[in-house]
Amino acid sequence: MTDKATGNERPEYEVCLSDTHADHKGLSWCGKHVIGFAFADVDHAAQNGRGGGRLVVCRDCLPLAVAALRNGWVCEGTRP
Ligand SMILES: [Zn+2]
Repeated sequence: MTDKATGNERPEYEVCLSDTHADHKGLSWCGKHVIGFAFADVDHAAQNGRGGGRLVVCRDCLPLAVAALRNGWVCEGTRP
């Protein structure tokens, strides 16, 4: 399914991972504006996968999030 409004040309079961960092509110990890459903954060996506959920993380968001975790990336913002 192609969503012309968002330029999202991925299958509908592939959803972006929201970036909850204060500086990136409203954006996904891959830099899109989050419109409609997206994983609320990395935990949300991980829980979905653990539970065998049908939805998968966007192919652009996933490697960015994984790389950040692997690199020991530390958030300098104000996550609650
Ligand atoms: Zn994405």
